[in-house]
Amino acid sequence: MRGAVIHGPRDIRFEERESPRIIQPTDAIIRMSATCVCGSDLWSYRGISQVNGPTPIGHEYCGIVEEVGTAVTSTKPGQFVIGSFFASDNTCPHCQLGYHTSCQHRELVGGAQAPMLRVPLADGTLVATPELPSKDLIPSLLSLSDVMGTGWFAADAADVKRGKTVAVVGDGAVGLLGVLSAKQMGAERIIAMSRHEARQKLAREFGATDIVTERDEQGVARIKELTNGIGADSVLECVGTQQSMIQAIRATRPGGHVSYVGVPHGVELKGADLFYRHVHLHGGPAPVRRYLPELIRLAWNRKINPGKVFDLTLPLEQVAEGYRAMDERRAIKALLRP
Ligand SMILES: [Zn+2]
Ligand SMILES: [Zn+2]
Repeated sequence: MRGAVIHGPRDIRFEERESPRIIQPTDAIIRMSATCVCGSDLWSYRGISQVNGPTPIGHEYCGIVEEVGTAVTSTKPGQFVIGSFFASDNTCPHCQLGYHTSCQHRELVGGAQAPMLRVPLADGTLVATPELPSKDLIPSLLSLSDVMGTGWFAADAADVKRGKTVAVVGDGAVGLLGVLSAKQMGAERIIAMSRHEARQKLAREFGATDIVTERDEQGVARIKELTNGIGADSVLECVGTQQSMIQAIRATRPGGHVSYVGVPHGVELKGADLFYRHVHLHGGPAPVRRYLPELIRLAWNRKINPGKVFDLTLPLEQVAEGYRAMDERRAIKALLRP
């Protein structure tokens, strides 16, 4: 089969790769219905994260089960399934407590920008839809594999509740879906920080009530101004830089909650700074698996339409163009069809 392989900075090739096969009896092989490029793939694309030799890339997926290992019992060939970027057993103590991305047996799922994918720990990882989905639902179902699940975790970890004031730092797909999640959870006021017109528009569609275009100290001052000088109850940090993290912490009221779901790159926090801020911090790789059943139900019943973040659809063989478009911020998120 042919799939995406990253060779180095700005070098994505669509080339011959070994077809996945069952290795462990707990594996499943799925035939991809759609996959996509993630904001976190751009860290290696931009050369910020090191690439050691040609590496199959991609970690967001949904599709039809083709084959299962002998120990797989609940996942069946022919089902349409969605899974997270970390495979998890769904039975260990961490999974039981909802932290599947800290599963004692977690395994990274990689190489998903391809027509076929091996998913380890299939029974714990994959969640099936009630039936085969209609074609127009596929973008929304695909988004649950990472960005929608991550946006939802961002809102949940920041303790978003009915009537609260929420600020979202970052206008990538995760930040925008953090806005959608906060709206679903009943937030009264949702402030999106964005200086990009198309993204502001989508943020408003997803439920943002205010847009702040300023950054750094001015951005924080603007949020204070909008909240009677207090700061937001919940702030979702969806970028992963020092600048965005500091902005998130400073925009939060004392006693408020900051969630952080952007993979940190060069973030360093000073103890004394944190001590006098009085904020709750909760973040990490989103335990997407915890939320999949509920998010599938919401998307299936068309209560949410997170698939709107895909503003570019390409055939899988043009995967390199998907990376270019996202790198140049011409696209929010690129969906790839095998
Ligand atoms: Zn991702
Ligand atoms: Zn586990």
